[in-house]
Amino acid sequence: MNPKKAEKKERKALWKKFRKEHYTIIAPDMLPITFELFINIVNRSGLNIVVIPPMGREAKDEGLRTVQNDACYPAIITTGQFITELKTGKYDLNKTAVIMSQTGGGCRASNYISLIRKALEKEFPTVPVLSINFSGLEKLFSIPLTLTELRMMLHAIMYGDMLMNLKDQAEPYHDKEKVQKALRDSMDTLISEIGHHSFYQTSKNYKMILNNFKGLEPDRENRKPRVGIVGEIYVKYSPYANNHLADFLVSQDCEVVYPSFGEFCLYCVYNNINDYRKYGQGKATVAAFRLAYKAFLRATRKQAKAMAGSGFDPYEDFEYVLEQGKKVISDGVKMGEGWLIPAEMVAYVTGDVKNVVVVQPFGCLPNHIVGKGMIRPVKNLAPDANIIPLDFDASSTQVNQENRLKLMLANIKRGLFEQEE
Ligand code: SF4
Repeated sequence: MNPKKAEKKERKALWKKFRKEHYTIIAPDMLPITFELFINIVNRSGLNIVVIPPMGREAKDEGLRTVQNDACYPAIITTGQFITELKTGKYDLNKTAVIMSQTGGGCRASNYISLIRKALEKEFPTVPVLSINFSGLEKLFSIPLTLTELRMMLHAIMYGDMLMNLKDQAEPYHDKEKVQKALRDSMDTLISEIGHHSFYQTSKNYKMILNNFKGLEPDRENRKPRVGIVGEIYVKYSPYANNHLADFLVSQDCEVVYPSFGEFCLYCVYNNINDYRKYGQGKATVAAFRLAYKAFLRATRKQAKAMAGSGFDPYEDFEYVLEQGKKVISDGVKMGEGWLIPAEMVAYVTGDVKNVVVVQPFGCLPNHIVGKGMIRPVKNLAPDANIIPLDFDASSTQVNQENRLKLMLANIKRGLFEQEE
């Protein structure tokens, strides 16, 4: 049998075994809303993927103990979380695996798998480390997704983004329980539709979501200071990784503004097209990326249109953000989150989100360059911008970060005071 066919057969058998023997597959947390939808999609095929539950300090210490300390912060803490969870005794270690995403880019995100394998090999030799990626990495251990599942995932990204956006705009102005109820009701409806035609009916589902959030719109007359959160993808979104940054800002009377996850996905797709444009790379796949780009962009625009007149602000258009980025950086810079971080900063501060927190993971060279390193050129475009880089390190405490944020909050208050005078 030719090696490709043999590999395909082996992969099929491996994933069949995970289903047949009811393996539990532990996945890291990142985007709580979108990941809940993803897991409900993938588990329909008989897999049992569970997300790591909220953890405390101990998982970070575990990561520091088991991963070499010059690895980046996300690598250290995800490994620490896996080990802490495996140590709870909740799992049959002969029927448990862990799964990690790989971006396929040039930084450590592509090497997480071997790092985690090394950390687990002594204590948990029977636990396989699996991968989810769209770059052809880890052929045997990467989760096989059908076209239907991929299509559903695209819809899940759109719904997850919309819910995150509405929740972030509603929370600072309304009772938390009411916001949570609107979110839960929307999620329950979407989850019940997975696998049915109605899951793809975005117009109908956007209406259902907006209806659940009716009455929870932000107070436009008394809008609170809006703070954009940009930076490395995992630290930006995962409440565990960023020490509940969004909750802290809301508790300080701010409104949090997150870029969408769809924007990050479009950034990845765009970079593949750009590689061909700039360097002639990826001729065989560029047509597929072009199609994906068009479909994705169309989906984001449809959502923005559905939100018109709802009282909630939609996300910025991806191509607008891209153009903003080009004012300060080349769109060929794609290591880590590349040009996307400065582009999001410019789009915010030249619009009406004047305050920005740039999350910076320890050990992440690419994002220090395009994050902290780009603050000056961004501020040159908008001198009234209030931007702070915020470092995250497995050994630093939440109090350190909150003190730093208080500096930004003091600037916000000073600005408001000056406006009133
Ligand atoms: S972008 Fe930075 S934090 Fe993310 S995997 Fe790469 S090195 Fe680590």
